[in-house]
Order: sequence, then structure tokens, then C-alpha cells
Amino acid sequence: MKVNIFRYICIFQFTWLCILICVGFFAPGLVFCQSLHKEKIIIAVRAHSGAEAARKKWQATADYLSLAIPEYRFELLPLVTFDNMRRALAEEQAHFVLTNPTAYVDLEVHYGITRLATLVNLVNKVAVSEFGSVIFTRADKKDIIALSDIRGKSFVGVDKEAFGAWLMARRELEDNGIFPFKHCRPLFAGTQEAVVFAVRDGEADVGTVRTGIIEKLALQGRIDSGDFKIINQVEDSFPYPHSTRLYPEWPFSRTSQTSDELSTKVAIALLSMPPNAPAARDGRYHGWGVPEDYNQIHDILRQLRVTPYQDYGKITILVVVRQYLWWITSIILLVLIGFVLFIRATYLNQSLKKSKIQLKKASQNLEKQVRSRTAKLAEEIVDRKRAEEALRDEQQFLQAIFDTIEEGIVACDAKGILTRFNKATTRFHGLPEQPIPAEQWAEYYDLYQPDGKTPMNKEDAPLFRALRGEKVKDAEMMIIPKDGQSRVLLANGQALKDLNGAIIGAMVTMHDITESKRINEALTHSHDLMRYIIEHNRSAIAVHDRDLKYIYVSQSYLDDYNVREQDIIGKHHYDVFPDLPQKWRDVHQKALAGQVSGAEADPYERADGSVEWTRWECRPWYESDGSVGGIIVYTEVITGRIKEEEELKQYRNRLEEKVLERTLDVEETQSALLNLLDDMNMTREQLEEANKKLHDLDRLKSMFIASMSHELRTPLNSVIGFSSILINEWLGPLNDEQKMNMESILRSGKHLLSLINDVIDISKIEAGTLEPQIENFDLADLLTEAEDFIRNSAQDKGLQLVIHKFSCPLLTDRRRLLQILINFLSNGVKFTDKGEVTLTAELSANQKQMEISVDDTGIGIAEQDQARLFQPFTRLHDSGSSVYPGTGLGLYLCRKIAEEILHGKVDIQSVFGQGSTFRVILPVKIDEAVKTIH
Ligand code: ADP
Repeated sequence: MKVNIFRYICIFQFTWLCILICVGFFAPGLVFCQSLHKEKIIIAVRAHSGAEAARKKWQATADYLSLAIPEYRFELLPLVTFDNMRRALAEEQAHFVLTNPTAYVDLEVHYGITRLATLVNLVNKVAVSEFGSVIFTRADKKDIIALSDIRGKSFVGVDKEAFGAWLMARRELEDNGIFPFKHCRPLFAGTQEAVVFAVRDGEADVGTVRTGIIEKLALQGRIDSGDFKIINQVEDSFPYPHSTRLYPEWPFSRTSQTSDELSTKVAIALLSMPPNAPAARDGRYHGWGVPEDYNQIHDILRQLRVTPYQDYGKITILVVVRQYLWWITSIILLVLIGFVLFIRATYLNQSLKKSKIQLKKASQNLEKQVRSRTAKLAEEIVDRKRAEEALRDEQQFLQAIFDTIEEGIVACDAKGILTRFNKATTRFHGLPEQPIPAEQWAEYYDLYQPDGKTPMNKEDAPLFRALRGEKVKDAEMMIIPKDGQSRVLLANGQALKDLNGAIIGAMVTMHDITESKRINEALTHSHDLMRYIIEHNRSAIAVHDRDLKYIYVSQSYLDDYNVREQDIIGKHHYDVFPDLPQKWRDVHQKALAGQVSGAEADPYERADGSVEWTRWECRPWYESDGSVGGIIVYTEVITGRIKEEEELKQYRNRLEEKVLERTLDVEETQSALLNLLDDMNMTREQLEEANKKLHDLDRLKSMFIASMSHELRTPLNSVIGFSSILINEWLGPLNDEQKMNMESILRSGKHLLSLINDVIDISKIEAGTLEPQIENFDLADLLTEAEDFIRNSAQDKGLQLVIHKFSCPLLTDRRRLLQILINFLSNGVKFTDKGEVTLTAELSANQKQMEISVDDTGIGIAEQDQARLFQPFTRLHDSGSSVYPGTGLGLYLCRKIAEEILHGKVDIQSVFGQGSTFRVILPVKIDEAVKTIH
């Protein structure tokens, strides 16, 4: 909105300026042009005192000019008011102007009039072309002496535009700081005489009139000049007293429309007017002089801001236009340019707005398009994502295929560097699981030609052939990994090319045909074998296809039917044998229908009348799909065999007769054998009876031993007891020989008692009458008892006895276990001459078994003797000299007790000459042992 207002103001100012410029420049010209064509010359005259007075004064002057310049007629145009004067000039009614100086200056400024001559008056016989103003008061006014005294007083003039009767005095007052309209009470009397009278009559304190007025009135006797006193009187040569500066008299001026020629003529006429001319006389002037300088008139009017300078100092448009024409023109031009630019800008603005609207629309369209495009893009992105997922799935699928396919795939780049290969490839090449650089592949395998023997050059390798641009088709090669089985591979490959057809690599697929080749070879071999079997079969065999064309034939068939293989293979059976009887053709058709026909012996008569026998069979053979592929015909000439069978039949009959005879003989032999068997049965019964008797005898023996042992032990105990008493000399002293004999008796008694005890124990065990005495006891106590028992013997032999004891509750037959341990320790001491005997007990990990070993550093037992140690009466070191006394029953009894009483076992480890280890293993609790062992 602001822009629009500014624009309208600019347009208005611009138009207004244009109008002013046109008026300023062209109107005077028009006036001038009009005046050119007038013959009557008008002199506009200012008539202060009315038209009549003016005519009276100036008509003679006009007439003078008419006379002086006869080609023109000069006429007066009296104009009472200054406005009339202006209008006349504005309407170009006058050629010349005769007016007071201030009016001249105004008209000069506004209408361009130019002075031609200045009026010359004769004052006190002095010719002057100037006049001034006088400021006066009554002579009796004591308080008004100087100009400064006028302040606050009433001050009277003709009117506020009267030059000599107001303006001149006002200028002087204002120069002295007194502004009449501000500091005084201004009064206007209308005429010069009225001014003088107003002061004289005391109507005003101070008055001002043109120079010479007071003198004129005094001369006329209308006033007394002595009644007045002049204020601020200027001392100079001017003939009249005056209070102001002097200014030039009335000018005679030409208007702008007056020609120079006429103007010149008028100026010459005026300047040459004699003082006594009627014009001068009527006009009461002296004549006309050269034009005065009217600048001081301009100065006073400017200072007082009187027309034409009422706006002086104010900047008016006209003044500005005149003074700054070029600037304005330039500015106008600039404004015009600005306007044009503005219009252009407005246009551009509108265009811009339109463009903005279009842009907005376009933007909206674009947004729409962007939205739709975005939606499409979103769809495309979704599609693309789907496609990518599908691609990824596809890639994963392909990768899975790539990895799992049995086909080896390998690819290389343009330099032959392997870039991709699948698991099948690494398997074919015998490569390890972890990845290895391609250049190291060759360290793992060798490539050979299909024969498997000729090494394959690198250049012949399918991948390199493909890289050279060759299309590799079914190239067979053998690959033999260093640590794997050889494979026959069928390679296919080609170069990989970019869009320009340049080779960027190569790819080869490898198919493992090892198995199929093997199968093919086996198949071929089977085929060949079948052919071989058929060809070399002793029967005549012919294999036909469904069309009864020959496929295979045996040599016998060729021989029998007198044909050659090359003449029949591929030919129809009936073409080879056109005279074949219908009987055979029927057989063939039956076979083709799936039926088997044959005969074991089919006679046929030859042309010579002899009869030949054949064994034949015609059966279908089947394709892999179960359909009949053709027929096989076996024929065998069995005439010879028939004869042989006949002979064999006769021979068999004879043989049967002989077998019959022989059977009779055998039957006789058989009855003899039966008799023998009866005898044997009788003998077995006798043996069983004898055995029973033996058992009884054994039982009686055991009983005997048990009872006899008891009977033997009683007197033996007496022998041992009494011999001990004697040896201890409780019944009296013994000599050395007696003592020695008694010791021998005691030793033999003890030995015999020990033997009897062992025999009794064995017999009890074997008789099943030895009852185990199960009790709870501590191992350590048992071992202490064993140690006490054996300690003296060991000490006697200088042996070290080491018993590793530890406390462990046992539930078993304490007495029998002690018996075993004492036996082991006694043997250890007995068969060791130096060193030590050590007992070690150990509880099994499950704490259910106790293992007690007795080690010695004695004579040891040879390996071959160890097996029979636990047999009764075995004494390995029985040399007869009785170095190692004993019965050979101890270990046997130990085994019996360990196995049958303690539910355990004994064993031995020994090195001959180094020592032995006897070990008893028994359950910690006998109840559990019964459970576990049984
Ligand atoms: P004996 O009463 O003879 O010792 P044993 O049955 O206890 O009867 O021993 C049988 C034989 O086994 C002994 O005669 C001996 O030859 C051999 N023997 C037993 N213990 C040892 C041992 N610790 N060192 C070497 N030989 C032994």
C-alpha cells in the first residue's frame, strides 16, 4: 500500500513539473510573438492618483514618442492598481511600461520587462534621477529624536507597499532593529499628503513620505515645515533632506514582446528629450537619463520580503525550476528513468507475482509430484527391498547351491588369480578345511590327462584354456590330490567378458565322473563279459531284440547253424533262416508275449534220416522298465548226452544190483556192531558203579582222615607237651644229647601236628564240613597277631620283618585269614635267606575288598612252576635234604580257605632268584562277598 501511495505522489509531481516547465518556457514566447504584429504601441502607466492624473502627466510623453517615432502611435494605458498592471502584461496588452521602481522590479522579475531609461527630476535646480524617503515627527515631540525612539509609537505611511512612503523607512528601521509591524503601531493614510497631515494633527507619532513632499506642501502653504522635525537625517549632496538611502527614479521599460528596433528608437527618443519639451513640462520632470542600477531596489524588496520577493528565502517551485533547471531536468530525467524503472519494476513485480503464483502452483504441482514420486519411491523402495530380499534369498540360495552342489565351480580374474571356488572344488582338489591362498593349491594336487598318467601342462588346464577365450567343452582330466583319492573330472568353461567383450576372467565347472566312469567301465565290462560269456558258451545261444534281429550269438550257435557272425548280427532271424517252421515262429511269439517255452530233449530227424536230440529253451529278456526287450534262444544238441544217459542208465542198474549185495554184507556187520555197543554199555555201567565206589571210598578216606587225625592229634599233643616239659627241664636237667634228641622229638611232633592239622582242614573242606566262623574284628589286631607269631623266626634268620598295619573293620573268618597270612609269612621267612619280608594291606577303591600281600626277597619261583604251586603236596624246593622243611599242603590249603571259606582268591607273582609276592584278596564283609561273588 505504501508503495502505491508513493507511486501516485511521484506521478503527480512529475505531471505538475512538466506543466510548469511548459508554461515557463513557452508562454513568454507566445506573448512576444503576439506583440510583433501590433502597430499601436501601448504604454502601460501606473496611475496612483487615478487615470486622469496619469494622463495629465504622461500623455505628453506618449505624444512626444509618437512624434519622435512616427511609424508607431503611442498610447497610454493608465492602470490604477498594480494587479491591473500585471494582468495587462500577462495578457500582453502593453509594449512599454512606465511605473515606480518597485513595480518595475516586480514586473521585471515576473514578465521580463527591461528598463530603457530612468526619469530625471529637477530639484532645487539640480537634476536628479534618485529619490529617498523622509521620517518625521512633530517638532514638539521631545521623546522622539532618534530612530530607536520610534519603538512603541504609532508610525504612519501611505500603504504597506508604498515605496517612498513606507518601504524605504521600514528598511532603515529594521536595519536598526525596529520592526514596525512588531514594535510600532503601523498606520496607513492612503496618500502622501494625508500622512503629513496625520503627523501634524497628532494622529500618528511618526510618519514617512517621499522626499520633496513636505517641501511641496510647505511651498503650497498647506503646512508649516517648522512644525516637523526630520529623524535620522542623512547628510549628503541630495537637494532635499532625507532619512533613508537614495533609490533610482521611475524607469521607462520595454516588455519582452517589444522589438529591439522599436525599443532602441524609444530609448534614443527619451534620452534625447530636451528639458523644455512639453512632455517634461507636463510631467514635471527634467528629462530621461541612462537607466540606473535597480539592484538596490531588488535589495530592499528582498530584505523586506515585498513583491516580487514576498517569497524570497522561501523556496518556490518556479524559483527552484529556474535556478536548478539542469538539476531538475536531470532529476526529472532520473525520475522519469526511475518512473520507467518503477513501471518496469511494477511490471516485473506483477510478473514476479504471476511468476510467484505460477511458481506456487508449480511448487504445489512439484510437491504433488514429489509426494506422488515419494509415494512411488516408497513403493519402489519397498519393491526394491523386496527385490533385494528376493535377491538376497536368491544369492543365499545360489550360495547354498554353490556350496552344496556336487559340481565343482572355480573362477579366476583376468590375471588368472582364483577368485571364487566352492566346497566341491576344495574337495576335488583335496584342500584342507581352512582357506589357503590359490597359488598354494598346486602343492595339494596334480593334474593329469584322462589316461591318469600323463601330467597336464598348466596351459592345458581347462581354466587357463577358458581364460584364453577358448570354450571348453567336456574336457576330461584326472586330479590326484596329494592326500586323497584321484578323481576323473569333466570340465566345461568359458571366458567371462565385460560389456565391451573384453575378457575379465574365466569360469570352469567340474563334474566328478569318477563314479559314472567307473560304472560305465563296469557296464562296458559287464557288457563285454556278457558278450564273452555268450560267445564262448558251449550252448548255442542267440539273443534277439523285439524285432527278432540278432544282437549276440555264441560261437556254438555259429558253428551249429553254420553261419558267420558278421552275416547275421543286426539281421532278422527269419531273414537268416527263411525256412524256419511255424512251430518255432509260434514259440518266438509266445516268448515275445512273456512266455517261456522249452524242451529237455526234443528229437528231430535230419535229412539223412538220423535223429538228433536237442535241448532248447526260448525265453523273453526284459528291459529295465520291465517291458520285453527281445528273446533269448538256447539250443543244445544233446544227442551225445542222450546216448551217454542211456549207457549210464544201464550202468546204474548194474550198480544197484551190486549195492544190494553189499547192503546185505553191511547189515551183518551192523548187527555185530550192535552187539559190541551192548558190551560197551555194560562196561560203562560197571565203570559208573566203580566210580561210585571210588566216591564212597574217597568219602570214607576223608572220614578216615578226619577221625584218624583226631586220634593222631591227641597222642601227638601229649608228645609235644611232654617233650616241651622235658626240654624246659621242668622235670630235671638233661644232658646235651638228651636235649638234642628231645628237641628233635618236639620238632617232629610239631611238624606232624601241623601236617595232621592241614590234612584235617583239607579233608573238612573237601567233605564240606568246615563251617566258617564269621566275626567282626579289626585288621590291625589281626596283623599284630600274625607279626607276633612270626617275629622270632624272622629274627632268628636275621631278616627284617615289616608289617604295614592300619585299622579297618572286617567281617569274615578271622582264624582262617590269620592261617593264610601266617602261612604266607612263614614261607616268606623260610625261603628268604637275607633281606626282608613285608606285609602290606590295601583297601580297594570301592572299599569292598581287602588285598593283603606278603613280599619277600627270597629265592623266588620260576615262572613255569608257579601254576602248580597251589596243588597239594607241591614242593618246588624239595631236594630231599630237607633244607626247606614242609609238607607241600600249605598253599593248597590257603587257596581252599581263600576260595571256599573266605570267598576270595590267592595269587602269586615271583621272579626266580629275586623274591616272591603272595597275595590274598578277600571281601571286607563276607555277606557282601557272597552276594557279589555268587
Ligand atoms: P611247604 O610246607 O613245602 O612250604 P607249601 O604249600 O607252603 O608247602 O609250599 C609249597 C612249596 O612252594 C614249597 O615247598 C616251596 O617250594 C614253594 N614256596 C612256598 N612259598 C615260597 C616262597 N615264599 N618262596 C619260594 N618258594 C616258596
